Amino acid sequence: MERKSGYEIWDEKKIKDVFDYCENYKKFLSENKTVRKFIKTCIEESKKLGFKEVEKYEKLKKGDKFFKINKGREVIFGIIGEKKLTEGCKFIVAHVDCPRIDLKTSPLYEDENIALFKTYYYGGIKKYHWLTIPLALHGFVFMKDGTIKEIEIGEKENDPVLTITDLLPHLAKEQYKKTIEDGFPGESLNVLIGTTPDKNKEKEKVKNNILRILKENYGIEEEDLISSELELVPSGKAKDAGIDGSMILAYGQDDRVCSYASFTALLNSIDSINNIFCILVDQEEIGSRGSTSASSSFFEYLIEEILEKSGYSILEKRKLFENSKAISGDVNTLLDPNYKEAYEPKNAARINCGVVLTKITGARGKSGSTEPTGEYIAYIRKIFDKNKVLWQPGEIGKLELGGGGTVASYFARYNIDTIDCGTGVLSMHAPFELTGKIDIYSTFEGYKVFYLED
Ligand code: MN
Ligand code: MN
Repeated sequence: MERKSGYEIWDEKKIKDVFDYCENYKKFLSENKTVRKFIKTCIEESKKLGFKEVEKYEKLKKGDKFFKINKGREVIFGIIGEKKLTEGCKFIVAHVDCPRIDLKTSPLYEDENIALFKTYYYGGIKKYHWLTIPLALHGFVFMKDGTIKEIEIGEKENDPVLTITDLLPHLAKEQYKKTIEDGFPGESLNVLIGTTPDKNKEKEKVKNNILRILKENYGIEEEDLISSELELVPSGKAKDAGIDGSMILAYGQDDRVCSYASFTALLNSIDSINNIFCILVDQEEIGSRGSTSASSSFFEYLIEEILEKSGYSILEKRKLFENSKAISGDVNTLLDPNYKEAYEPKNAARINCGVVLTKITGARGKSGSTEPTGEYIAYIRKIFDKNKVLWQPGEIGKLELGGGGTVASYFARYNIDTIDCGTGVLSMHAPFELTGKIDIYSTFEGYKVFYLED
């Protein structure tokens, strides 16, 4: 299939729409670097358009807009359309968690007059990417009395940043001989957090000084860190990339690019005839096992609640699922000109050639794939082409090199037609990931068409 860049085929007015959309996207990414912040901001934005907690509705009817939040780390937005619920719904699910560096359960220690935090990397990262770059600490400490202390260090202009060191090249002869996996052990990813001693203390003077600062600034003790959700992410804002500004370089685009697209598409589909849902889940990067992940019953129970509040029996969920359609909105890789040998060119997506339809995820012989039916793929092609959505097929790369999965299986298991469809990314899982602006906008347009079309 021929792939053409949107920059080649779209007119100036459309390109302006693309750039305007991307300005908002960059701002959203820069200001919402954690799962909880991203979800909180989406909820605030939805409320401006009349969305309410589903609990506030005794009965649901056409046009009602609602959301349900799960423990601060998962949220589902929905709008009731003209169609019967048993005629099916349209779901787009994307994940809001991103690769990052978490603090260990008991992180603080001192070594050689330096205080450090031990860390635990989250998701499939290349560990060496995260060394020697400015990192910001984000998150919350949950106190026994129920209060929550928010911490954010390293984003404001005059904030200090944190960093993880790497061995100087002059002494790296042995390191160079190792594989990348062995050369950067997880246990050496300790982040430096201070060097000033507390002169009043006998030992561990630097560690004690950090504890003093944490107590003074946030009211927390060392033990409180056990019930914290603190993470290190690259410091700094999302930026335009390329001399022509045609791309975006930013932290967390896997998968906030699809999360943002599905959320903004929902807000732009208020009058859809369909019953439409935007599902933002957590913990995809670590295997979707937790209560706020795609495998949680939260989704199914919300559907039951909606059926009840709309005057149906909850047993009718079987029919609802059978007649529903879902997009698993996750990123795919773009053909990287620096590493062409990893791709199979006929089936690789190209930058700025549109949102990527992924028939097969998984690895090797389709292992782990949720391969949708041909009928469903034809349906997506039909509605995209009818509405001039710029799209392209894309697979992950050469068959035996690796592979990857998405949350598609957690929706396909309900017998919902489910297909992977999302934005192409370069340098996936690196601290700063690269996307094309045309692709970001095509994802938004594709998702909107999916919500609106019969
Ligand atoms: Mn992803
Ligand atoms: Mn990922």
